[in-house]
Amino acid sequence: MTPADIDAFIARAIAGEPMACARGCSWCCHQLVVLTCRDDARRILDTVRERLDAAGFAAFERQVREQAAAIAAIGHDAAQAGRWTCPLLRDGACLVYEVRPVACRSVFSPDAACCRAMMEADDFAGLTPAHQALATRIGERSFRLQVAINDRRPVDGAKELRQWLVELLDAT
Ligand code: SF4
Ligand code: SF4
Repeated sequence: MTPADIDAFIARAIAGEPMACARGCSWCCHQLVVLTCRDDARRILDTVRERLDAAGFAAFERQVREQAAAIAAIGHDAAQAGRWTCPLLRDGACLVYEVRPVACRSVFSPDAACCRAMMEADDFAGLTPAHQALATRIGERSFRLQVAINDRRPVDGAKELRQWLVELLDAT
């Protein structure tokens, strides 16, 4: 499935639901992102190469390598708890928005304030009951969409975005 196919599939699945999501809204961009498809990671890396100059790409590569090594050292859950900003977030917007991962494409919220609360709360228990209910709905729907999309295309293994990028960088 191309990014356009994935968007069309998701659009059919969520038809008619109110959404606050847009490029430049980025409360959801401070967490780890798991990809299951090598082609997605390759598309992202190619797009980063096109959009950054040599110095920018070198800085990006350094950051990705450092964070991938840190994830391997402390484990996925501890890194996730650290709420690291995604290395693809630039000036408040996704550098590769058109080809962003399925995990990002499948997260939709009708209320950016809830996403902000999720980002800022110490844990799930720190959210209001309304935000807890919405956060649960967002997470469950995203999971269902990702499973449905992965059922329709090759799955190469679950790896965090930074780890996929390092694998591809090492191979070039
Ligand atoms: S999921 Fe939330 S933070 Fe992310 S784009 Fe949508 S409204 Fe914004
Ligand atoms: S890939 Fe883009 S949309 Fe996904 S977390 Fe990173 S900056 Fe946000």
